[in-house]
Amino acid sequence: MTDGEIPEDHPRRASLVTRHRIEAGVEAGITSKQGLIAQGRGEAFDYLLGERTLPSAAAAERAAAARLLLADHPVISVNGNVAALVPDEVVALAEAVDADLEVNLFNRTEERMAAIATHLRDHGAATVKGLTGDGEIPGLDHARGTVDADGIGAADVVVVPLEDGDRAAALADMGKTEIVIDLNPGSRSPRTAAIPIVDNVVRAVPNVTSHARDLTDASPDERRGIVESFEPDAALDAAEAAIRSGEF
Ligand code: ATP
Repeated sequence: MTDGEIPEDHPRRASLVTRHRIEAGVEAGITSKQGLIAQGRGEAFDYLLGERTLPSAAAAERAAAARLLLADHPVISVNGNVAALVPDEVVALAEAVDADLEVNLFNRTEERMAAIATHLRDHGAATVKGLTGDGEIPGLDHARGTVDADGIGAADVVVVPLEDGDRAAALADMGKTEIVIDLNPGSRSPRTAAIPIVDNVVRAVPNVTSHARDLTDASPDERRGIVESFEPDAALDAAEAAIRSGEF
């Protein structure tokens, strides 16, 4: 089944479209089988959050846009789930904030790296990093710590959607400012992030892009003000409270 075959008025359309994109990603060799498990975990949290962008997540998305526009060398890390779910949207975000796109996999295989890079180029990416693999994240084994020296290795701000907790911690230890997109507010990755966005990547990425476009003419002071007034712990607490209250 393709996106177009799911009725527009189906009450769970967004969820079904997401699921089918991940399935297609696995079939195309872009998404790993573990990616299916990650998707299931994400869906459960999204359901509990009411499948909507919380006000606290919207604030995080605006802070992320402001921080990316202030960055010297921002990089957006792309794994198999992100490539399957939001290829056009990550390309648009990279253009809006002048960031590099870097393929970065938990289960790195050269075939999957190449398939994702090709997929992103097919969706309009001018350059895709990650294939050189001449840099490393200290403290991780080779397969998980390999990055491009002039990509994530040299970045000051990194967007890491659906990142594994160890890698998120290791990137923070390198002094990177991390923007993590993850639906589980209790997961280690958002808890190590300077800016945790507790929202579905399918909503979060276009929202950050739209805030970035809105802030194109904002002064550095205005952008800094938005970043400084964002409170990561309060955003995580608000997401957890929304899940626990079950009110939406
Ligand atoms: P950690 O090591 O940080 O505790 P984890 O072991 O929970 O993380 P994984 O199972 O590797 O991490 O990754 C899945 C994570 O990605 C989950 O936290 C899940 O909520 C999140 N996730 C899955 N799909 C999406 C999505 N579409 N948008 C945002 N987050 C998602």
